Amino acid sequence: MDGGRCKGVVMSFNRDQLPDPQEYYENTAGLTLMGRGPWRTTRCEFHGGSDSMRINLKSGGFMCMSCGEKGGDVLAYEMQSTGAEFIDAAKALNAWTDDGKPSSYKPSPVSARTMLEVVSFEVQIVALMGADLSKGIAISEVDKSRLFEAVSRITRVAEALHHA
Ligand SMILES: [Zn+2]
Repeated sequence: MDGGRCKGVVMSFNRDQLPDPQEYYENTAGLTLMGRGPWRTTRCEFHGGSDSMRINLKSGGFMCMSCGEKGGDVLAYEMQSTGAEFIDAAKALNAWTDDGKPSSYKPSPVSARTMLEVVSFEVQIVALMGADLSKGIAISEVDKSRLFEAVSRITRVAEALHHA
């Protein structure tokens, strides 16, 4: 006892202990990550889309191109997908330790840069099809609908940026 004040064990959030994004999304969240490079594609559990979720393996950030659900790290994903409060989500990810420091967590916002990276992915699709068209190569109905989808996705990101 110290002057009548009882000192309990302080538990707090330790960002360094968050799981590796790939390991978290594949093993804990049970997603199949498709594609190559830092951005992977997977299904969106928030609205039920099959391939609209983009996940960044480095930051753990995620963004759904259809419903717009997004967050900057795996903790944000855990909280949003399970509805858990920050402390419970941090515990579930073993990122809750008694290092004695006061705990605080601000969800990492999705940066404008992140959103632009996602847009550039969609733009590549548009550009590829545009190149085919300019060479007189007809694009299929499937490609055409993918093209319109890419355009509407870019529009949605632009809206998200506007609100960011
Ligand atoms: Zn979604």
